[in-house]
Amino acid sequence: MPEVIFIGTSDAFGAAGRRQTAILIRGRDGTLLLDCGPTTNTGLADLGVPRDQVDAIVISHFHGDHFGGIPLLLLGARYEDDRRKPIQIAGPEGVEQRVRTLADAMAHRIEDDWPFAIQFQELEPGVEHAVGPATVRVFGTHHNRDVNPYALDVEIDDKRIVFSGDTGWFDELPEFVRGADLFICECNFYDRDYEFHLNYQTLLAHRDRFDVKRMILTHFSEEMAPLRGRCEFETADDGMKITL
Ligand SMILES: [Zn+2]
Ligand SMILES: [Zn+2]
Repeated sequence: MPEVIFIGTSDAFGAAGRRQTAILIRGRDGTLLLDCGPTTNTGLADLGVPRDQVDAIVISHFHGDHFGGIPLLLLGARYEDDRRKPIQIAGPEGVEQRVRTLADAMAHRIEDDWPFAIQFQELEPGVEHAVGPATVRVFGTHHNRDVNPYALDVEIDDKRIVFSGDTGWFDELPEFVRGADLFICECNFYDRDYEFHLNYQTLLAHRDRFDVKRMILTHFSEEMAPLRGRCEFETADDGMKITL
């Protein structure tokens, strides 16, 4: 019975005072973090989740609101948590270089003599990857090409959780997520037409095509945020916790 905690549910800009994307999945044998927005440390602290619990981070794509928190999370692990156990960081092609470059730019270089190992892992479509306590598959989404955008398809404790990452509409999406126990879907806008994000009206129009047990929307902009809890779909909020 994995537990899912929404650490951050805003768009890239912290709309409505919420934190940027990070979703914690706690399984029997460990804990996985899907995406790690810049506000992840703040969220974990606010929600009383020890950072040390995170065994692996899986990144959907290389936009700052999805992986910008990694250098500071590692820094906290190194200097605050006295971490000893390894941490896995899985993501699209180039994940190690992206994370190291970001950490360097922030003047928090990842050093080889840290007391815990950082194991980078590249994810590719069509392959099953063992990541922390889970099995992860990915599929490409309709988002900016230069950030290697994937959706994350996670199997943990006999449950299947799919997270859309960031994406505009594409026709194969319902097929990719079919049968999921939980589909966490981005819904950036209410009705604004923007190629690389979804809006509420589009999801509503295609609603019957999603054959999933439970669907929860996230990644809300200012125009979508007021519809939390007041629309045709279940919606996430910072700190929301569910058990599957
Ligand atoms: Zn985003
Ligand atoms: Zn993005």
